[in-house]
Amino acid sequence: MAKQPPNDTASPITLTHVTVYGSRIEGQLRFAPDAPRTSSPRLIEQLVRTFPHIGDHACVNECGDRFADVMEHTSLAHVLEHMVIDLQVQAARRTSQNSQHEAAFVGTTEWIDKNAGLACVRVSFKDDLVALAAFRQAIELLNNLVQVVEQEHV
Ligand SMILES: [Zn+2]
Repeated sequence: MAKQPPNDTASPITLTHVTVYGSRIEGQLRFAPDAPRTSSPRLIEQLVRTFPHIGDHACVNECGDRFADVMEHTSLAHVLEHMVIDLQVQAARRTSQNSQHEAAFVGTTEWIDKNAGLACVRVSFKDDLVALAAFRQAIELLNNLVQVVEQEHV
């Protein structure tokens, strides 16, 4: 029997619910009991290969005003927030006729219940379908990163 690829329920992080409001989209995340909750320098080293500009994002945090100030030791939900924003910026650049009209997105992340592994990520959007696709792509990429980094330690 060929080994089955992991299905959704086996993913470290699951996007359980997405709600679209007037100006923002909200995603509920559930971390598996044994999934890491925070980033690591190794994970971020992998992440920036796909998102080279993510550290330059504006970010209100306890250490500074850029995501780079905290990205190696922050919650993975916060990492996801910035991945969703970055994917939306990339999509806006692809479709925008006027490069001077740079899209700006903002987001927030909070634990609903850290022990239970439940978090909420909110980001603003210009196009709800782009934002929805960004959420799905970001969660898939983040799960891949987590699994690759975890396997290095086995
Ligand atoms: Zn941030």
